[in-house]
Amino acid sequence: MDFQIPEHIQQRAREARAWVENELDPLSIDLEKKEIFPPALYEELKRGKFFGITIPKEYGGEGLPMNDWFPLLEEYSRGYAFVRMMAHCMNGLMWRAIYFFGQEHHKSELLPKMARGEIMVANCLTEPESGTGKDINTRAKKIGDKWVINGHKWLITVFPDLVPCFYITFANTENGVTCFGVRDNNPGTQGPRHFNIMFKDCEVNETDILGVPGDGLRVAFDMLALSRVSIAACCVGVAQKLLDLCVPFAKRRQTFGKSISKRQAVQWSLAEMATAINAGRGLYQKAAWLYEQKIPFDMEASMAKLFTEEMVVDVAEKALRLHGGVGYTKAYPVERFFRDCRSFHFEEGTAEIQKLLIARELLK
Ligand SMILES: Cc1cc2nc3c(=O)[nH]c(=O)nc-3n(C[C@H](O)[C@H](O)[C@H](O)COP(=O)(O)OP(=O)(O)OC[C@H]3O[C@@H](n4cnc5c(N)ncnc54)[C@H](O)[C@@H]3O)c2cc1C
Repeated sequence: MDFQIPEHIQQRAREARAWVENELDPLSIDLEKKEIFPPALYEELKRGKFFGITIPKEYGGEGLPMNDWFPLLEEYSRGYAFVRMMAHCMNGLMWRAIYFFGQEHHKSELLPKMARGEIMVANCLTEPESGTGKDINTRAKKIGDKWVINGHKWLITVFPDLVPCFYITFANTENGVTCFGVRDNNPGTQGPRHFNIMFKDCEVNETDILGVPGDGLRVAFDMLALSRVSIAACCVGVAQKLLDLCVPFAKRRQTFGKSISKRQAVQWSLAEMATAINAGRGLYQKAAWLYEQKIPFDMEASMAKLFTEEMVVDVAEKALRLHGGVGYTKAYPVERFFRDCRSFHFEEGTAEIQKLLIARELLK
């Protein structure tokens, strides 16, 4: 396993950081207040090298391996969380469901559009009245030559004002969970509104099935494994940003006549942050490497997710304390990262679910 990041990726990482710092950061406070993402900024992302980075070349992407993509994802995680989520969803997550489980018409139509940022694919798994995995209340019934889906999904990541969406939807069928691809202009769908999507007598065809009928959870679990590694890279990116804010602040801030960076307690805190960040980076790099080698990596993916989601919260806590009271105000970005990093608990499964998966693997 090679830890050296190729020069051309380092160059792109520098460009991504410059874009985040020069273009995105100045807008962040305003964007967050208005809870919007300007269409013009989305168009700018489309013109840049933001979409399709990991999508295979045969379908119009760049086909970058994951360990080349994740350093870039770390950079996008250093800014407004919306961009981080978009980068994670479009490059790390959903194209793989289409590529590995979609029918040829899905691949030839959707992957090139995804690579250009013209469509988003959403993972519709979570429901208000049920839990993770097999616990799915949405139902699909075969009536004549159609499948009819009824159910309610929520907390679904979508960007409805920016880009059309293709819903990868998991529903219970007679022989288990089946995965369907549903278009957002299907008259049987309502939403997305506040991350809710309703399916009411939503008719789809046999050709809209992804993977094997009754084995749809394979699609979900396959997607989620690498996606957990992707979230781990995001956690590392946020934590690294926090550390990078702390170091100059600690040097600058004077108390009792000298810089707080001269205090051993502060130095220890910085050292602990840096060590934990490096450990997290190593965990996700190993999991990504296993994925690229086609070696089973589910347990390592869960370990990377579990460790980094707790690590980033701990780093954010230390960063807040190090900044003192001003860190708690909106004038400093630490406050925003301190709040935002809580969402990592939930994305791609909570810590409890990761522990359950790791233990299952250990005990099998
Ligand atoms: C920013 C964000 C984006 C998201 N995007 C998507 C998306 O695009 N698509 C999608 O489908 N979902 C998405 N989600 C939902 C997310 O996947 C779920 O919130 C998460 O999996 C937890 O499920 P839940 O909310 O139903 O909590 P619950 O399953 O109700 O869990 C509540 C608590 O109980 C614990 N718990 C539950 N079951 C067990 C168990 N068996 N053993 C031990 N503890 C347990 C959990 O760990 C948690 O602490 C998103 C969530 C967020 C915050």
